[in-house]
Amino acid sequence: MKKKKILNLFIGSNNQGKIKEIRDLLPKKVQILTPKHFNLNSPKETGITFKENSFLKAKFFSKKTKMICLADDSGLEIDSLNKLPGIYSARWGGRKNNFNLAIKKVYRELKKNNTNWYKLKQPARFVCALTIYWPNNKFVSVIGKVEGSISKSKKGNNGFGYDPIFIPINQKVTFGQMNQKKKYKIDHRIKAFKKIKKFF
Ligand code: IMP
Repeated sequence: MKKKKILNLFIGSNNQGKIKEIRDLLPKKVQILTPKHFNLNSPKETGITFKENSFLKAKFFSKKTKMICLADDSGLEIDSLNKLPGIYSARWGGRKNNFNLAIKKVYRELKKNNTNWYKLKQPARFVCALTIYWPNNKFVSVIGKVEGSISKSKKGNNGFGYDPIFIPINQKVTFGQMNQKKKYKIDHRIKAFKKIKKFF
């Protein structure tokens, strides 16, 4: 039997950068609602993995709205920092989720770890977990990753978050220097999204 495609979807995120990117990934016929439409805040991210956090957000918003909900939890893992900021990627930006603060903290931590950090390649990856949660308690969670390294300085004004300091593998420029269409084709979110595309 052919599965019923999702036509109305709640995106469980208050991050405008992510909402825009997810919106662009979905077929145009899918009607989108976000926490703004319901005046909802996001739940506390108490999970210890990206998957757990995307699951708890998707479930929370689906219960509140009685809608099918898609939630993302994502972040940057830096190998020499024991995979930090990881699930704390947003939290490194402080209460106001200030991306400049978060980037400064990355450089501070790299330097603290090794004053010659910039002489070494700094392998890193963006990870994205996506969960779709249905009102009948069915759910699906998937992961997508893009490998790369940390740039020696912040470059470019495109995108959001850590984009200006992440150089994806086989590329010469940061996500912040790349045009968005190009980033969307190779990033962690599209890789995760491809695994749930069949539901739309
Ligand atoms: P959360 O998933 O809402 O907890 O936050 C994820 C955080 O990871 C964002 O606030 C960004 O700092 C970072 N992040 C996730 N995806 C990206 C991306 O595509 N580019 C840059 N930063 C990202």
